[in-house]
Amino acid sequence: MPDVTLIRNGLVVEASGAFRADITYSDGVISQVAQRADPASCDRVIDAEGLLVIPGGIDPHTHFDWHEGDDRVEDDFTHAGRAAIAGGITSHIDFAFQRPGGTLKDAIEEWHGKARDAAVIDYGFHPTVVELNEGQLDEVPALVENGYSTFKVFMVGEGWSLDDRALAELIRACRDSGARVSVHAENGLVQLLADELVDQGKTGPEWFPISRPWPTETEATYRALSHARTLRAPLYVVHMTSGHAVAALAEAHSLGEPVHGETCIQYLVLTDEVYKSGDFDLVSQFICSPPIRSQAEQDALWAAIRAGTISVVGSDHAPFGLDNRRAGKDDFRRIPNGVGPIEHLRPLLWDRGVRTGKINPSEFVALTATNAARLFGLAPKKGSLAPGADADIVLWDPEKSVVVEHATLFSASDHSLFDGWEITGQPRMTISRGEVVYEDGVLRATPGRGRYLHRARVFSSPETPYIDEVSYV
Ligand SMILES: [Zn+2]
Repeated sequence: MPDVTLIRNGLVVEASGAFRADITYSDGVISQVAQRADPASCDRVIDAEGLLVIPGGIDPHTHFDWHEGDDRVEDDFTHAGRAAIAGGITSHIDFAFQRPGGTLKDAIEEWHGKARDAAVIDYGFHPTVVELNEGQLDEVPALVENGYSTFKVFMVGEGWSLDDRALAELIRACRDSGARVSVHAENGLVQLLADELVDQGKTGPEWFPISRPWPTETEATYRALSHARTLRAPLYVVHMTSGHAVAALAEAHSLGEPVHGETCIQYLVLTDEVYKSGDFDLVSQFICSPPIRSQAEQDALWAAIRAGTISVVGSDHAPFGLDNRRAGKDDFRRIPNGVGPIEHLRPLLWDRGVRTGKINPSEFVALTATNAARLFGLAPKKGSLAPGADADIVLWDPEKSVVVEHATLFSASDHSLFDGWEITGQPRMTISRGEVVYEDGVLRATPGRGRYLHRARVFSSPETPYIDEVSYV
C-alpha cells in the first residue's frame, strides 16, 4: 500500500474558485479531492484548519546562478530555490543564455549543469537566443521535442538582441514547432540615452530610469506584437511595466490574438521614488530593466491585472551584491540590472493585491501558478490541485504577518528590497511532490531534489501562416 497523506479542514483555492475539501496524496501525486476523506485510511494527517490550501507557485521568470564577466547573481539554484520554497513557490523556469557563437543546445547543457546537483525545486529552461548563427533555427524543433517549448529574446541592443528580421524568423520557427517566443521589450534607444546622460556628467544611479523611459518599452512591445500579428504567431511579453505597453497588448487581445503579458512583483509594489534617496548603495539595489516606474504606471499595471490583460506575475529574480553594483559607482551603465524578490512574490501579491480587494484569492492562484502552468506547457501536472497533479501544495495563512529582516531570509543576497516591510499573508507549509520542504520557518530541502520539467508544446499552428485580412476594431 502506498503511503497516504491527508490534508483536511482547509479551504481549497483553485484558479476556478474556492471550496471546502480534503486532499489526499501518495507517491508525490494528488489522489483525491473530496468533501470528506477518512483519516483512518491515511498514514499522515495535516490539519489545515483556518488555512487556505493552494497550488505550489510557478515562477516562469528567474535568473538563478547567472554570471557573465564580473557580474554574478548572488543566488545559486539552492539558495534561490530555498527562498522560493519559503515564499510558496515550487517550480520555476530559468533563462538558459546562448553564448556568443554558441548553440542553444550548449546553453541548455550549461544550465542543466548549474541546476542538476543544486536545485531544490522543479525547473525548466527557456532557451535564450542572443544571436542567430548558422543553424539556430534548425535547433528549434529538437529543443521543443525535448521539453523546451518557450524561447526568450532581447530587443534592447548591447549585442544581446535580435534585429527585426531575426526576431521574426525565430517567432515563425517557434510557431511552426508549437513553441512561443518571449520578448524583453525595450528598444535600442536606451543605449543612446544612457550614453548622452553619462556624457553630460549624469552618472549616478538616479539617472538609470531616465535613460529607459516608457516609450522605449512601448515601441518595442508594439513592434514584437506586430511581428506576431503578421506571422499569426503567439508571443509572450515579459516584465511589462507601462500602461502604454499594456494598451498595445489589450489591442491584440481585442483582435483575438494568442499573445500574453507578464509583470513582476517589484513593479506592482514599488514606485520610482526608490531612485531618489541620493544614497548609491540603496538606489543601486533597485536597478532593474525596465526600471521601476511612476505611481500612475503601477496603477495601470494593477488595472491590467484586474482586466485580465496581464496574466502572470513573476519575480525576475537576479540579485546582485553591493560589491558588484559598486562597479557602477561612477557610471550607472556598469551597474548590473537585477533584483531578487522571489521569496516575497506571493506574500506581497497577497498583501497588496488580495488584502486591498484588487484581486480575489482565485485570481491570486491564477496569477502565481495556474496561468503559468497553462502558458508554459506544465499543465495539468503543475498549477492545480486536481487528482493526478503533482502534490505541490502550499498551506497559506492569510493573516500571518512578517516584518522582513534581510538577515533571516533564505536568499544569499546581501540585501533585500523590502527590509522592514510588514507583509501579511504567508506560507505556513510548502509541499513539493509530496515532500514537506518548509514548515513554519524551518526548511528541509536537499540540493539536487529538484527535477527537470519536460514541458509540452504551447501552440498549435494556424491554418493560414500569414495575416490574410485587414482588421478594423
Ligand atoms: Zn529577466
